[in-house]
Amino acid sequence: MGLISQRLEAMEESATIAMAQKARELKSQGVDVISLSLGEPDFKTPDHIQKAAKEAIDSGKYFGYPPVPGYPDLREAIAKKFTEENSIPSQAANVVVSTGAKQSLANIFMSIINPRDEVIVLSPYWVSYADLIQVAEGKPVLVKGTIENDFKATAAQVAAAITPKTKALIYSSPCNPTGSVFTHEELKAIADVLQGNDIVVIADEIYEHINFTGKHVSMGSFPEMKDRVITVNGVAKGFAMTGWRIGYISAPLTIAKACSKIQGQFTSGANSIAQRATLAAITSDLAPTRKMATEYLKRRALVHDLLVEIPGFKVNMPTGAFYFFPEVSSYYGTSVGDYKINNASDLCMYLLNEAHVSLVTGEAFGSPECIRLSYAASESDLKEAISRIKSALEKLS
Ligand code: PMP
Ligand code: GLU
Repeated sequence: MGLISQRLEAMEESATIAMAQKARELKSQGVDVISLSLGEPDFKTPDHIQKAAKEAIDSGKYFGYPPVPGYPDLREAIAKKFTEENSIPSQAANVVVSTGAKQSLANIFMSIINPRDEVIVLSPYWVSYADLIQVAEGKPVLVKGTIENDFKATAAQVAAAITPKTKALIYSSPCNPTGSVFTHEELKAIADVLQGNDIVVIADEIYEHINFTGKHVSMGSFPEMKDRVITVNGVAKGFAMTGWRIGYISAPLTIAKACSKIQGQFTSGANSIAQRATLAAITSDLAPTRKMATEYLKRRALVHDLLVEIPGFKVNMPTGAFYFFPEVSSYYGTSVGDYKINNASDLCMYLLNEAHVSLVTGEAFGSPECIRLSYAASESDLKEAISRIKSALEKLS
């Protein structure tokens, strides 16, 4: 009998984290790697948020265990944010603050899934959804959008995937890895096909503030869905706070209580100082957040113009987040020297080793024909990286 549980043996390592680690290792050996693998803002956490954290330390009031679901004033503020900014009716009791949106998602799946329950995952999907569902003994059912439809699965596809075992549906909008944003009509159509079925929707809105359509739509704001939607959000992306590790949800009361119960056993309340910083983030002016989003928008144009120049890449125009997700399968079957490119993972390893650019295979997101490029990097790094990618690809035949 192996030491490691079958549950863990069956689980994949997070491909985003694994690729970022490979890039770090090469960098530590002195290789000039440009890392476009990790979805991580390259900005600093805004000053006023840093200041709030320093004040929290200096006050001496926040050194003890915080309440499991979060400080009451932070939960109040988050509920107000959901209600006023997203039209999601929410009260402090509906809110659970966790160690990153990743823990929020893990709490949710552990709270609602029974063995063999199916969870419809709009695909391409964020890397951890499928594995977290499987760890909770559920079955991810991928419903896949195509590049022609900006990678957005349709309501008709969702309808066809529903079975008596369907427990939940999860999507992200703006989407990681595609950068797509679902419109009101598209989400409404999906909500309509869910009516009459006992299905919980998990709406991952962590890229809310990086949305170039000017309109962020929450399914939790639809009156007919108010008891069925769990909205996940966090401060990592919009406030450049990935390392602070704070995510949060608004959920129907029974689910919020269940998430708090499991969190009480797994980790307890999230880091106290980071919670105080989060309070500052979500209650103050969004100007620094908007400034970062404007910067991403500029880079999107730059990266798009460079990527469409690469022969064999099929590229769409993402409308949010900070990723491109080009279709690259025209390179499968090519080779150079000892490198044989049979899939997206081969291509990413080739580009890491030969072009010294780290990217993530689309396989990790349910799209083996694609690779993901994060453009949360400086313009000069982006230009250099794409030029290196282009040159390395030219060698393949
Ligand atoms: N959801 C999506 C769509 C993400 O891209 C990420 C990556 N950060 C997360 C959840 C997890 O966020 P956090 O860093 O707050 O755990
Ligand atoms: N969400 C980021 C990404 O997709 C961070 C990595 C992770 O948490 O897996 O790259």
